Amino acid sequence: MVGNGGREHAIAWKLSQSPLIKALYCAKGNAGTSRIARNIPIEPTDIKTLADFAQREGIDFTVVGPEAPLCAGLVDEFERRGLKVFGPSQRASMLEGSKVFAKEFMQRHGIPTAEFHVFEDPQKARNFVKDFGVPVVVKADGLASGKGVVVCKSQEEAMQAIERLMVRKSLGEAGSRVVIEEYLEGEEASYIVLLNGDRYLPLPTSQDHKRLLDGDMGPNTGGMGAYSPNPFVDEDTEKAIREQIVERVIEGLKREGIYYRGFLYVGLMLTHRGPKVLEFNVRLGDPEAQPLLMRLRGDFLQTLLDFYEGKDISLDIDPRHTLCVVLASKGYPEKPEDGKEILGLEEVEKLEDIVLFHAGTEERNGKIYTRGGRVLNVCAWGRDLQEARERAYKAVENIKFDGMHYRRDIGLRGIRSLTERKGF
Ligand code: AMP
Repeated sequence: MVGNGGREHAIAWKLSQSPLIKALYCAKGNAGTSRIARNIPIEPTDIKTLADFAQREGIDFTVVGPEAPLCAGLVDEFERRGLKVFGPSQRASMLEGSKVFAKEFMQRHGIPTAEFHVFEDPQKARNFVKDFGVPVVVKADGLASGKGVVVCKSQEEAMQAIERLMVRKSLGEAGSRVVIEEYLEGEEASYIVLLNGDRYLPLPTSQDHKRLLDGDMGPNTGGMGAYSPNPFVDEDTEKAIREQIVERVIEGLKREGIYYRGFLYVGLMLTHRGPKVLEFNVRLGDPEAQPLLMRLRGDFLQTLLDFYEGKDISLDIDPRHTLCVVLASKGYPEKPEDGKEILGLEEVEKLEDIVLFHAGTEERNGKIYTRGGRVLNVCAWGRDLQEARERAYKAVENIKFDGMHYRRDIGLRGIRSLTERKGF
C-alpha cells in the first residue's frame, strides 16, 4: 500500500481483512496503518526505492493511494520490473495531473464539462475575466492537493487568484498555466469506477464536502467529510453519468491509445442540464474512499486481483449508509500545526458501528500526535444517512487535540433532499 492518509488507512483496513494477505506493508503509513500493516519509511514519491523494496521483499501486489506517485510514473517503473501494481500509468494519470489535458480531452470526446479557456499569460487571463464576468472558477493546471481551485464570486477574487497562482506562483509551476471556466450550479457527486481497458465497474456513489467551513464557506480543501450513497444520484442520473461520461472516457482513451487500469474518479456537478465533469482523479477520493470502502462486503483484495487480471467481477454492497467526518488541525489548509497530542482515541475504537481512520497522525512513545492538516476520519454506519451522521458526530465528541476543528454539517444537504422528497 503506497500512501499516508485516511484513504490509505481505509484501503489497508479493507485489504487486511482478506484471507489472502500474508504480509501488508504501508509506505509510509501513519499511526493507524501501523496497527494493521508494517509501516516502511519510504516516501510515496520515491519510486525507485519503492520498486527496489517491492523486488527485494517479493511483494505480490501493490495498490497506490495518492495521485503524486501515479503522476510521477510509479506504475510504469513497477511494470518495467515485472511487478504487479494497481493504478494507471503516468500517461493515463495526465487526466488528473494536468487540468488542461483533462479539459481538452473532454472537448475532443464530447464529454460534458464547464466551458473553459486556458491561459499562460496573466494579463490575458485578467482581460478574459473582465470580459466574461463573474462568477468564474480559476484552476491551476498542475497538481495542488485540492488547493489549486478558486471559485470566484467577484472580479476582485478572480484577480487575486490569477495574481497568486500565475504571478506569485504560490503553487510553483502547477499554477503557471491556468484554466478559467464557467461556474456551474448544482449538487456535487463523486462517481468512482474500477477501470481496466474497456471494462469498468462502478463503486457506490458518494458526496464530498470540499470547503473548509459549514455551509460551504471558506477555501477549498482536500475534503472535510463525505458520505455514501449520494441521494442526488438517482437511476436516470447514473445512466447519464455512465453513458455520457464514463463510456465516452473509455472510448476516448482507446482512440488515443492510452491504456488505463486503476480507479477512475469523476468529480461531477449535477446541473439542471445534466451531469458535468468538474475534474478527474486517477485514484480513490479522500475522504470518499472511507465511507465507500465501508460499504463493500467481501474480499476486496480478491476483487482487485481478479479485476487486474481482466476477470469478470461483481461487488456485494452493504445497503447501510456511511458517513465520514474529517478532524483537521488549526491552520489547515494554509499552514496546519503539527505535533499536538491526540486524546480519546481508545474510547472511539470501542464504539459499535464506528471506524476510526487515521490520516495525519504519528506515534511516539505510545502516544499519538498530529502530523499534518487532516488528522482523523471518524466514520459510522447507519440504517439511514441521519443515523450514520448522528453516530459519527457523537463519536467525534470523545476526541480532543489542541486546535482541532471540523465541519458540523456533513451530510445535511443529503438529509434535507431526502426529507423534501418524502414530502415532509
Ligand atoms: P476540482 O478540483 O476541479 O474538482 O475543484 C474543486 C472544487 O471546486 C469542486 O469540488 C467544486 O466544489 C468547485 N468547483 C470546481 N469547478 C467548478 C465549477 N466549474 N463550478 C462550480 N464549482 C466548481
